[in-house]
Amino acid sequence: MAFPLHDHLVQSLLTAVLPLSSLRMRFPAAPFREFIPMGRDEMKKIKTMVLLLGALLLQAALLTACDPRRPAVKKTDPDAANREDTPAAAPPVTDPSNLPPYILTHADAEKLRSPLVLAFVPDPLPKTPDVPSYQGLEAFRGFVQEFLNRAMLLPALAPGRRLSVFVEDDPTINAFADGYQRIVVQRGAVEGMDQASMLELLCHETAHSTRNHVAAQVPIADQVFGTKAAPSAAYESVMNEANAYLNQQTVNGVYTHAKASYAAIQQRLLAVVAPYNTANKRSESEADIVGAFTCAQMGVSPAAYLSAFKRGSEIIAASMAGVKSPESIADGTKLQVPPGEMENFFYYLFYLDTHPTHEERIEQISRLTDVIQKEFKPSPPLIAEWKQNTGSFLDSSAIALIGDEAALTGRIVLQGLDGAPAVIMPPLDPREKALRSRIRTPQN
Ligand SMILES: [Zn+2]
Repeated sequence: MAFPLHDHLVQSLLTAVLPLSSLRMRFPAAPFREFIPMGRDEMKKIKTMVLLLGALLLQAALLTACDPRRPAVKKTDPDAANREDTPAAAPPVTDPSNLPPYILTHADAEKLRSPLVLAFVPDPLPKTPDVPSYQGLEAFRGFVQEFLNRAMLLPALAPGRRLSVFVEDDPTINAFADGYQRIVVQRGAVEGMDQASMLELLCHETAHSTRNHVAAQVPIADQVFGTKAAPSAAYESVMNEANAYLNQQTVNGVYTHAKASYAAIQQRLLAVVAPYNTANKRSESEADIVGAFTCAQMGVSPAAYLSAFKRGSEIIAASMAGVKSPESIADGTKLQVPPGEMENFFYYLFYLDTHPTHEERIEQISRLTDVIQKEFKPSPPLIAEWKQNTGSFLDSSAIALIGDEAALTGRIVLQGLDGAPAVIMPPLDPREKALRSRIRTPQN
């Protein structure tokens, strides 16, 4: 199993260094006698001192290198002399003062520990229909549902949840939680992810559910995107601009990119939807950390969670290789947009910005390791069970995916008409589309 192995390796490396006896063997004894003529006892004392000092220095160097939480003591540090005489206490981990509002501090993370799971609050939006499940992965779906529901019975996760799990027949590497205790995993994630990153993803999605994130965002979404009863003039206005732009730039299905006009409208859109984007990013940050707590309760160490997160990010990045950002389209580029793809193209150009960057997320998980550690329950049976039961569904394809563009599906390719490279884009998240078109659907 990828998770505990990493920790055990680090631990066994450290314990291997600790016994001084094994290090003594490596010091040559002969040179002392040749260059320092003195009595046998004196020589023995000096040898012991030198060996001890060498071993201590080596240990210190290895500990500093292996444990990122232990900062190197600077020579100029005025307190260094005092510290040498006392056993090193774990230094308090401080948060940078310039964190964005959607990234958690230590105090924020501590608050999320009690309670880890909130009482279920149903999403006030109309109940979403059940997702048709992909039959090809029914055994996987059934196992994951049962596994997560047993995890939800862990005492620390009270009052728990009764989760329904679906595997959607969608080739994108993604998963989501709705406001009704449902976790939807897309087929692409099962095909593309490995055991560790899939479990991390499920812990993240479960956290969205257990923190009632969908319900919490409804008032902000209502305010930003408007409702039929209370339309948002600012959002309406910028969507009208975007529609007018796309109509003007598209003739007989051929779109001509006007870089400056496009960028100005997209900038206005991002300003209008900023409160929603910030709230959404905050939910993502929370789900990463509550997900880490949840996984830790199942037996995933903070280090294993972080490495699974990084691996998941790599897999997703590989699946997006070649996808162009709208910002990277050159001015004047002409693209053939089939009529059936015009709405997707609209949302591709005029996108929201709902997730912190991978770098921000990795920094946060890494910085909050000490808080996650407090939820870590080593070696419960759940983690072994996960490893035993999901190997046939996960792992092998994840390895194949890295660097393999042929494995990438679910994207829309728009042909360039004047020799420009084709624009490739991921399909739009259908939930986002539904949210954004609550008042009106773009005309294009
Ligand atoms: Zn999320």
